[in-house]
Amino acid sequence: MKDQVIPKATAKRLPLYYRYLRILHHSGKQKVSSTELSDAVQVDSATIRRDFSYFGELGKRGYGYDVEALMNFFAKTLNDDQMSNVALVGVGNLGSALLKYKFHQSNSIRISAAFDVNKDIIGRILDGIPVYPLEDMAEQIRLQEIDIAILTVPAEHSQPIVDELVRAGIKGILNFTPARLHAPKQVLIQNVDLTNELQTLIYFLHSNANVEAE
Ligand code: ATP
Repeated sequence: MKDQVIPKATAKRLPLYYRYLRILHHSGKQKVSSTELSDAVQVDSATIRRDFSYFGELGKRGYGYDVEALMNFFAKTLNDDQMSNVALVGVGNLGSALLKYKFHQSNSIRISAAFDVNKDIIGRILDGIPVYPLEDMAEQIRLQEIDIAILTVPAEHSQPIVDELVRAGIKGILNFTPARLHAPKQVLIQNVDLTNELQTLIYFLHSNANVEAE
């Protein structure tokens, strides 16, 4: 891989490409043209070529892309060739739904531990995942070598939990709370505010603004 920074927009599209390549591979397809790929993932082919160019020479001109080679390449790039254990903090409505979710795009992401303060669920195994008391969070994260945490606690409790996650060595946080969190800059925080997303969608539906595809 070339030693350069990959733009965030490109990085966000990689799972999309990877997912489609897996589908193609499972259906026995050996090569795919950039037009086919473009139609399937709904990203224009110039963008695809630019995205791929960050990773060096991935295809041959006039041949298209070798499905298996490209799939394996993205598996490696996305770390999907090794198991990533993920922690979930806050087993409320949203947290429980995520415990049930099979992360079907990937065979190698799994929530391996959940944490909560609610005595009714602590010590239970929900959807195959043990729920630990919050006090055990740092210890479990170190023991299980967990790098990523999903945050689904009430917003007002989120920052102290983030501070503790950081102390325990967490490297990335998927934040489902509406709170804007503070962490050292080497810790990546990805915000998923579902209410915000819906509001944005409603706004675009009701305005006549031309929505540009991301
Ligand atoms: P959601 O926001 O997912 O719809 P909810 O409305 O069911 O959840 P919330 O009050 O938002 O419930 O709490 C989410 C979960 O976070 C609950 O299971 C709650 O026990 C847990 N929780 C609350 N405070 C903390 C905390 N400080 N640390 C860990 N978990 C907490």
